[in-house]
Amino acid sequence: MSDLRDLYQEVILDHSKRPRNFRELPEANYRADGYNPLCGDRATVFVRLDGDRVADVAFKGSGCSISTASASMMTESVKGKSREEVERLFTRFHELVTGSPDKKDQAAVPELGKLAVFSGVCEFPVRVKCASLPWHTLKAALEGDAVPVSTELSESSSGDGGGKAR
Ligand code: ZN
Repeated sequence: MSDLRDLYQEVILDHSKRPRNFRELPEANYRADGYNPLCGDRATVFVRLDGDRVADVAFKGSGCSISTASASMMTESVKGKSREEVERLFTRFHELVTGSPDKKDQAAVPELGKLAVFSGVCEFPVRVKCASLPWHTLKAALEGDAVPVSTELSESSSGDGGGKAR
């Protein structure tokens, strides 16, 4: 198990040092800014939708290694997917990082693929916001919402599911 953890750490570190799709996307037709006041993470997510599909996606911003790695891996995961698939992936990812006890085997969900490396995040409630910031921002972008999103607002409106669960 600790080997697995080391591997996860390595993947996260790699993505935080060399984030993929870290650029502006001039041809983006959706974008949103996200901010996580707890950690100071900022992310701008750019999406180019072609019909219902994510033709291209990129991000800019500055944040801790968890938020950067999460954004990097998110862009890799959602490219080519439909809105509905992105939505489903967001739900799975959120379940993973908030660590619902009966969802411990989420890491085995093939849909998540490499995103399973964030399973350890659920043990650190503060980090959950870091990992989910890019996803909330992506969601806001796809909903055509140009107003900056705050993880504070979206997390607290859904009850105690996030920070205080553990
Ligand atoms: Zn952070």
